[in-house]
Amino acid sequence: MKIQYLGTAAAEGWPGTFCRCPQCREARRLGGKNIRTRSQAVIDDRLLIDFPPDTYMHMLAYGLDLPSIGTLFVTHSHQDHWYPEELMLRRNGFAADMAGILDIYGNDAVGKSLEQSLKEVEESPSDMPRVAYHELKEFCPCQVEGYVWTPLKAAHNPKENCFIYMVEKEGKRLLYANDSGYFPEETWEFLSGLHFDLVSLDCTLQKIRLKTGHMGLPNNVDVAERLRKIGCADSRTKFVVTHFSHNGGWLHEEMAVRAAEYGFCAAYDGMTVEV
Ligand SMILES: [Zn+2]
Ligand SMILES: [Zn+2]
Ligand SMILES: [Zn+2]
Repeated sequence: MKIQYLGTAAAEGWPGTFCRCPQCREARRLGGKNIRTRSQAVIDDRLLIDFPPDTYMHMLAYGLDLPSIGTLFVTHSHQDHWYPEELMLRRNGFAADMAGILDIYGNDAVGKSLEQSLKEVEESPSDMPRVAYHELKEFCPCQVEGYVWTPLKAAHNPKENCFIYMVEKEGKRLLYANDSGYFPEETWEFLSGLHFDLVSLDCTLQKIRLKTGHMGLPNNVDVAERLRKIGCADSRTKFVVTHFSHNGGWLHEEMAVRAAEYGFCAAYDGMTVEV
């Protein structure tokens, strides 16, 4: 399996849309890997995770073939992961010659918000965007395009069932875990004994240890340690940290060095990892 990180920032991007903090000023000056867009990833060039406002930019920057992508998994309804208004452009008159329906998978909050967006554009059945929604329940796997996707519980926004995803194909297994704080116990129980080839973790506030909602590097170290203890990770497991906020304070080069001290790889926009 191949995962490409299309965006690696927290909600406001880095530099933040309206921010002039020292880290955002420095990112603007240096450019390159210091420019981070809102979080999105693609598995094997054809299964999307999350749909942020920067999806259009990801299409342009990385040659993402959006018209032919038929599957989208959404982690939760926060604006940096889910921007349904853009999907309304899958209507006649806005898009021609698409490959077919886009199947979208996610929780009840994402489903409701999609419904709302659809209501706003409702004109006639032939004008509706070509999307289909499938609501998932935590810990219940679904089979899509030869992959098994299982949503697990994240510790993020108590107002909705935020998901992290386990993705399996042909003996390979990866965990895509943002946005999340240190995992809830139910998720730990589910994970016990399952070996992962790749673990991708939320590192929003970088140097800062957080209680819940998001993580920093100290929390990532705790998660990796527990994963190793319960048989989920070993020397073959690749760890990636991502979803960085400018409030964390480390530009890419420093983030990469700090992450490497624990054997982790700091993601950057466009980065590809194969397992
Ligand atoms: Zn986020
Ligand atoms: Zn800033
Ligand atoms: Zn969030």
